[in-house]
Amino acid sequence: MTVGMAAIEAKDLTKRFGGTAILRGVDISVARGEIFGLVGPSGAGKSTLLRILTGSLTPTEGTVKVLGSPPSEFKDEERRRVGFMPQGFVLYDSLSVQQNLNFVAGLYDLGGAERRRRVQEVLEFVELWEHRRKAARNISGGMRRRLQLAAAVVHEPELLFVDEPTASLDPTLRRRFWKEFEQIRKGGRTIFVTTQYVGEAELCDRVGFLVDGRLVAVGTPRELKRQAFGGEVVQLTLAGDPGHIGDCLKAVESVGHVIEIRPDERAGEAVSHVRLISQDADAALPPVMEALDGAEVRSVNLPTPSFDEVFFRLVKEHR
Ligand code: ADP
Repeated sequence: MTVGMAAIEAKDLTKRFGGTAILRGVDISVARGEIFGLVGPSGAGKSTLLRILTGSLTPTEGTVKVLGSPPSEFKDEERRRVGFMPQGFVLYDSLSVQQNLNFVAGLYDLGGAERRRRVQEVLEFVELWEHRRKAARNISGGMRRRLQLAAAVVHEPELLFVDEPTASLDPTLRRRFWKEFEQIRKGGRTIFVTTQYVGEAELCDRVGFLVDGRLVAVGTPRELKRQAFGGEVVQLTLAGDPGHIGDCLKAVESVGHVIEIRPDERAGEAVSHVRLISQDADAALPPVMEALDGAEVRSVNLPTPSFDEVFFRLVKEHR
């Protein structure tokens, strides 16, 4: 493994089908050991990008390197370093859970004791060991998905591609998948996962928002929130009327701007709600408190916006 080299490096990717551009100038760099989430609505181009990254399509323009080489030119040795969990069930319905995995392990030349060890290890990991003798057709939808995940990692790939693993699963099962990804990542592996559930962006180390074939924003969840709101939001409630609070706060260096100061008498006493934006809400709090010297602070809140809201704002900006 070459230390320091990105797991995925794509530059200016464009893909056209006929005359229609499905991907437009996509740049992506994924570091080793991170969970990178490609998030976007249905039809955005996520599967097309994934098919380019896994070598089953070539880009119309641009360059792509996965583990240092163009995926469409992968040799067996490079292919073995990558795992892919596609959408839809591609294993054998009539084979048992364990037979399916034995079969896949055989494709990767795992044999004998090593194969037995890995098959058991990975079935225990996805909690299917006790169901190993059941025919794949007789296990639930969530279990089939986990069997596919097991098949994608049985050969211990360095890099795992996963296409919409949680589509149409209930929230509990979706959570469970993300826990499994977390475990795989902890083992030092890289995961590239697509999802149409915007909220799942929160669970990735870094996220790219793909809309109409364009990557409109890339960053850590926290960076994307900052980008969407121009900073982080701090909400304060103070006793009494606002007085000169606005002027005091504007003088604080770490306060980007004060969004609103709103007097409120509904609770039977006068309070003032203050919302401000800062590049780093945690760091801004001590100087803000100091500037409010003497004011009676009733509550301090650092609200975390939902990813639906973040997505909505960033997409609106780019349309
Ligand atoms: P997503 O995975 O985000 O739902 P896709 O990559 O599957 O998006 O599809 C993006 C767009 O590309 C869709 O409008 C789809 O119809 C179109 N598309 C995908 N594959 C092909 C193809 N082989 N030929 C023509 N159009 C395609």
